[in-house]
Amino acid sequence: MSRPLTPMMQRYLEVKAQNPNALLLFRMGDFYELFYEDAQVAAKVLGLTLTSRDKGSPNPVAMAGFPYHALNGYLQKLVRAGHRAAICEQVEDPKQAKGLVKREVTQVVTPGTLTDDALLDPRESCFLACVAPEKLVCGLAWLELSTGRFWIAEVPPTLLADELARIRPAECILPDGSRTQPGLSAALAGSTIPFTERPAWSFSQDSCLRLLLDQFQTQTLEGFDVESGHAGIVAAGALLDYVRDTQKSELGHITRLEPYRRGSALIIDEATRRSLELTQTLRHGHRDGSLLAIIDETVTPMGSRLLAEWLSNPLTDVTAINRRLDVVQELASDTVTRQDIRDLLKECYDVQRLTARVATGRASPRDLVYLGRTLSLIPKLKAKLAGRSAIRLNELEGRLELCGEVRAEIETAIVDDPPLAIIDGGIIRPGYHPQLDEYRDLARGGKEWMAKFQAREAERTGIPNLKVGFNRVFGYFLECTAAQADKVPSDYIRKQTLKNQERFITPELKEYEDKVLRAEGQAIALEQELFGSLRQRVAMQSPRLRENAEILAEIDVLAALAELAVVSRYCRPELTDDPVLDIREGRHPVLDRILPTGQFVPNDVVLGEADGRVQLITGPNMAGKSTYIRQGALITILAQMGSFVPASEARIGVADRIFARVGASDELGKGQSTFMVEMTETARILNAATARSVVILDEIGRGTSTYDGISLAWSITEYLHDVVGCRTMFATHYHELTELTQTLKHAANWNVAVREAAQQITFLHKIVPGAADKSYGIHVAQLAGVPVEVLDRARVILQTLEQDHVDEAGQTRIPARRTQVKSSRQLTLFEPPPHPLLDELRQMKLDELTPLAALQELHRLQQRLTTER
Ligand code: ADP
Ligand code: MG
Repeated sequence: MSRPLTPMMQRYLEVKAQNPNALLLFRMGDFYELFYEDAQVAAKVLGLTLTSRDKGSPNPVAMAGFPYHALNGYLQKLVRAGHRAAICEQVEDPKQAKGLVKREVTQVVTPGTLTDDALLDPRESCFLACVAPEKLVCGLAWLELSTGRFWIAEVPPTLLADELARIRPAECILPDGSRTQPGLSAALAGSTIPFTERPAWSFSQDSCLRLLLDQFQTQTLEGFDVESGHAGIVAAGALLDYVRDTQKSELGHITRLEPYRRGSALIIDEATRRSLELTQTLRHGHRDGSLLAIIDETVTPMGSRLLAEWLSNPLTDVTAINRRLDVVQELASDTVTRQDIRDLLKECYDVQRLTARVATGRASPRDLVYLGRTLSLIPKLKAKLAGRSAIRLNELEGRLELCGEVRAEIETAIVDDPPLAIIDGGIIRPGYHPQLDEYRDLARGGKEWMAKFQAREAERTGIPNLKVGFNRVFGYFLECTAAQADKVPSDYIRKQTLKNQERFITPELKEYEDKVLRAEGQAIALEQELFGSLRQRVAMQSPRLRENAEILAEIDVLAALAELAVVSRYCRPELTDDPVLDIREGRHPVLDRILPTGQFVPNDVVLGEADGRVQLITGPNMAGKSTYIRQGALITILAQMGSFVPASEARIGVADRIFARVGASDELGKGQSTFMVEMTETARILNAATARSVVILDEIGRGTSTYDGISLAWSITEYLHDVVGCRTMFATHYHELTELTQTLKHAANWNVAVREAAQQITFLHKIVPGAADKSYGIHVAQLAGVPVEVLDRARVILQTLEQDHVDEAGQTRIPARRTQVKSSRQLTLFEPPPHPLLDELRQMKLDELTPLAALQELHRLQQRLTTER
């Protein structure tokens, strides 16, 4: 028999039932406690000691907890591990409570709804996404709760994974059960995003629209350029519903929706982002060592987040790219202006997140001061930016608002260095409000009176060390040593006897105490009121402030790219719509930075009609093939995001998509059937690449047996060459593939130069035209001291193997591929053989048949179809 539950545990279970999908952190005094399964999960994730309540009973309840002041640290760990946490606070003062202290959930913290500065990485955006699948499209919405930026989009299910890879949400909401639907399950397979399922009613068209209209206080969404029936509306509504459920606070900073249109951005799918280590490294998933970390010269957190966004969404419009490049060029060539701008930006606070805190009523006095300080920099910044020639810079300068009244209000109201919390007062400047000054004078005057009172009483009683003291229990008192207590006059009322001290009060003292304390309390209350209304007035300006924040972020990014260009010796790329890549003395941006100066060997990349669209790069392991082909992709991405590039000269044909695949062995530790993954991804490239794409293949085909691998690599290359016609760089150690250039018109062989001297091989890391030396492996074996006999035998075997597919003249025996135009139908990995009836159907001479005969033919075919089954 289990004992009846205590009222507190009853309340616990009640709250838990309302929050079944979150770990419940239940406040008990100075601790947060978790019970039952929650306790077990928390013990594992947080490393807490698992204990139990009711230890003696037959059904002890598992329990784990931590002190309240450690909340942020533990929350961060829970959320990083993909958990949700409901924080249940004591919402009344335990001293005042009658019976059980009231407890309510005040916030549900989830990976995608973080707003607290202590939980957020200042350099990273934290997005919450929502997918609302419909028949033909998916509605997609995503929100950055800490700033209020909110987008919606419609995407075909086939592109959903790419879009999610681009957004990289910290959490994604889906309708209950939709993950197993055929359309979505494929798109989301293997995704590491924490998914949150929400009930289907949360995705109803009507209620979603109503929720949005209510949030934005509008009659329609057309003002945001969102048409009715947009699939994103449901996603946005369901997202908002979730945020309201979890935040339990104002969402006043979410003031608009931005429709996102695909097509203006270079599409980079998830595998490519990973292979190229754009924002995190392949091996450890860290930002350090990624391209983003290397190019990040921003000086504000807002800029850092925007830079990540630009890198994830490079442009495709040459004019738009050049607008950015113009600014970068101008700032790169004017060091003084660039430094001045960056110095000013360094003093700017994260006004994007500050503004959101103001709008949601969570801003502290210090937040407002920081906002004011940032605004005070804007006139100087505008002065520095005025009269520049780059169009975009002028535009930004023009749109940057001084917000003088906001700044003045903050500056006149709040002291220079206010305390973090509002509770203790000391926020409002003297002279701001007469009533406040009066209360303060009174409080201060009371204190002066106390000092005089002490001197007077010391004299009257003849007790020189008589002192006025204060504590929370008695308020003000007079104190003297026990030895002198007998000198105390009769109007003293004894309050407390300590070991060596006696404490007294007098009616006069209490009367003054009242005044002082009341005045202090009134002053603090008034301060809070004044601060609250100031915060509200500032909140009204949040759209302008947010716009300013976005402009500051962009200026920071552009100045940072200019700084990068100078510091890392980058050049301005020339963008063109021709499908070419012509990079002179290009460097891999990350390796170039990591290696000691001058050690990285620059290489040219020349791809295009004239020099060959398909490049086969052969060479031994560790020669530099992977580095070289990645370098080509990274430089393209940098150029399209509007950055200068690590090269001496570069002409970049704008790509619509970039694909990069790393062969099985380079991506160890993923633990999947690597060859299947490799082929699935290759299938995607073959189906999705266009003539404007850039494809980087690294050792594709390595995951299977050699002949299999070579054959696949061979035909994949042919297909990319003949049918897709995209720019392709293929690094491989299969020398056989170099024969491909015999049949493919636009393919060229390149290899990595190697120097052998005195038993030593040096990789020169220089990419040169031509195929690599075939017998290289045997050569290395020779250098390594393998016996001559073995080497000779190996040469014979090699020759035999090679002769098999090469004729006497050294020409390949592999039959040429029959060219055909790429059909729009999807290639599946294992395509069924064509049906025999198809040929008959094809050969039918319809114009020689009467309608009746045609009908009979049709009947005959149908008959055969059923009998042959
Ligand atoms: P592969 O793909 O041919 O096996 P990698 O591209 O992985 O070779 O390069 C192997 C190593 O060689 C790299 O980690 C790097 O240290 C060095 N390396 C590659 N390319 C260069 C270069 N251009 N300049 C200097 N070092 C390079
Ligand atoms: Mg390699």
